[in-house]
Amino acid sequence: MSIIIDGKASAARLRERIAAYTADLKAQHGVTPGLATVLVGNDPASEVYVRNKRKTAEALGFKSVHVGLPADVAQDELLRQVRALSADATVHGILVQLPLPKHLDEAAVLDALDPAKDVDALTPTNAGLLLSGRAHLVSCTPAGVMLLLKEYVGDIAGKEALVIGRSLLFGKPAAQLLLAANATVTMAHSRSRDLPALARRADILVAAIGKPEFVKADWIKPGAVVIDVGINRVEAEGGKTKLVGDVAYDEAAKVAGAITPVPGGVGAMTIVCLMHNTLIAACARNGLPLPQQL
Ligand code: NAP
Repeated sequence: MSIIIDGKASAARLRERIAAYTADLKAQHGVTPGLATVLVGNDPASEVYVRNKRKTAEALGFKSVHVGLPADVAQDELLRQVRALSADATVHGILVQLPLPKHLDEAAVLDALDPAKDVDALTPTNAGLLLSGRAHLVSCTPAGVMLLLKEYVGDIAGKEALVIGRSLLFGKPAAQLLLAANATVTMAHSRSRDLPALARRADILVAAIGKPEFVKADWIKPGAVVIDVGINRVEAEGGKTKLVGDVAYDEAAKVAGAITPVPGGVGAMTIVCLMHNTLIAACARNGLPLPQQL
């Protein structure tokens, strides 16, 4: 039986350290980290994500600003709002909840965002800094995965890592971070050939596909570390729904050396890493040392 990687417990510990650092920042420097959330429309899942981010920010003592816009908002108005937040000195981090409705241009919205406040690290500036090994704002879910690997695996130098999925939000930054930690990294996607064979070589298998229970137990090298990023809502008994990952967890847990559950694994880390990024952005803006090693 594998070790269950408890993202919830790791996230709770990181959250405590952020709260303590924030209290010191306020007491010693009079700086209150500020996080702005921007939500367009009323997609129920996005509403829940944004509500949780706002609640976490408030609980940590951050200033929380929210801009809610109707689903049919004009591109110009959205850009105006994002530029106003970029210019607001009390806001250190801006989170535009994606995806946006189809009529809006996501790239133009990211271009309107001050990269220093881009706490999701989606702007080309932050993606480029990550590639150059100079990023201090790193995409939240990949950052959370690296913290879990650090805690549960330690040194990953020389290990074979496979990342399935190449999104800007997760797969690409995750591969860069694994590479920076000296893993031998392979990226797979929908055009990759013989995914099970690629997966069987991996000491660290990271799945970010968005397909429920796609990765099967016989794809996993015995003893490998399995990081399941997927969050998929599927039908359960009694007409209810439940969340499952991209890995067939029950069977995979019999083969893996360590595995993240869904929920309670990677997802738990994401919001806390967003708060960590906001804290980093607030320190950077005020010329204070960055809290990298929390
Ligand atoms: P995405 O943008 O839809 O990307 C999915 C990736 O999976 C793409 O690169 C795609 O390949 C690849 N893929 C699709 N079908 C495949 C197949 N049959 N074989 C191999 N690769 C395949 O998704 P995302 O934003 O990265 O999210 C992925 C999952 O992670 C989703 O379930 C999402 O909800 C979850 N997620 C969770 C968190 C969290 O906080 N835990 C954060 C972000 C995302 P192509 O590029 O070739 O199309």
